[in-house]
Amino acid sequence: MVLPIADSTSLRALLNEHTALAAPELTRIEPDGTLRCLACGHRCRIKEGRHGVCRVRFTRDGELRVPFGYAASIAIDPIEKKPFFHAYPGTDALSFGMLGCDFHCGYCQNWVTSQTLRDDRAVAEPRFVTAEKLVQAALDNGCRVLTSTYNEPLITSEWAVEVFKTGKQAGLVGSYVSNGNGTPEVLEYLRPYVDLYKVDLKAFRDKTYRELGGTLQNTLDTIRRLKELDYWVEIVTLIVPGLNDSVEELTEIADFLTGVSPDIPWHVTAFHPDYQMTDPPRTPVETLLRAYEIGRSAGLRFVYPGNLPGAVGECENTHCPDCREILIERHGFFVVRNSMRGSCCGACGATVPGVWPENSPSSSVGTGIPRPAGV
Ligand code: SF4
Ligand code: SF4
Repeated sequence: MVLPIADSTSLRALLNEHTALAAPELTRIEPDGTLRCLACGHRCRIKEGRHGVCRVRFTRDGELRVPFGYAASIAIDPIEKKPFFHAYPGTDALSFGMLGCDFHCGYCQNWVTSQTLRDDRAVAEPRFVTAEKLVQAALDNGCRVLTSTYNEPLITSEWAVEVFKTGKQAGLVGSYVSNGNGTPEVLEYLRPYVDLYKVDLKAFRDKTYRELGGTLQNTLDTIRRLKELDYWVEIVTLIVPGLNDSVEELTEIADFLTGVSPDIPWHVTAFHPDYQMTDPPRTPVETLLRAYEIGRSAGLRFVYPGNLPGAVGECENTHCPDCREILIERHGFFVVRNSMRGSCCGACGATVPGVWPENSPSSSVGTGIPRPAGV
């Protein structure tokens, strides 16, 4: 059921009714009795009747209430669009999002859902669903993966866990597309249900992070912690001209990632003007290719320039790290050809880091076409 929303006041009233009690793992009672939320790096201390920075987790009658039982966006996307390039290539992911975010990025492409209750123009219409219905839609459409995305999934982790728990029983894999503003507590809480985790490493300057609504250190700590907990991690840096595109800053990002693991795929993607950030020009292809070279020189084994399909030549493909054979040939989100044998190079047998289906076919082709899910 989709309900028409007139304004943010009626939306808040509606959302306040579609909540659950926060997970005990994500709640702390302070010595003075106030509640602290541990779902994201803000660690908000929330007095009775107030909400946290994200606006969607709030206290009522001495309880921390959290979003539950709805989706603001649902779609079936190629997993390459998340983007995960080293997990179940050529398969589809049922993607769902709720409302709200703990950041306020000026270039947010999902601002209508992420900036709900912060920006009066961001008024989306939630659709009330059950975990079972989402999972059934994924199965009906042949999806292998469930993805919590479109808003910041950390702030709605209880709902994601509910969906992923149900999905796991049906053989589906859980994944997060996140800004990485995590806490050790939420990463431990999610680990039984989330296998794939994409983090936006948006910059390597704390000043930039504070303008977007977070801190650099917290994102770096999250990336390290995710690897320690053995999540499959891929990183995206949206390269915005004038914001984070200097050789120096890109080199610092690449050096940091190499230090965590040279096997982390790094997606360096092109910016286009959106929402409140309309001044910077689109990212030129030369900048993406420079970022690619910086990543490779730093020691990263897999760097993918993105958002400019067909413009970056061979760089869209996955090459064997040993013999350099093309293993997965792509055009944008399309898998054109896959010559891997399970988790190994089909030519030399070298192991390729990632989460690969057993006995992956010698050739598979994704549709590359996002489509709405029939829920
Ligand atoms: S999810 Fe983050 S921003 Fe929202 S209440 Fe919890 S700590 Fe605060
Ligand atoms: S963290 Fe992501 S969803 Fe949130 S405002 Fe930034 S770009 Fe949008």
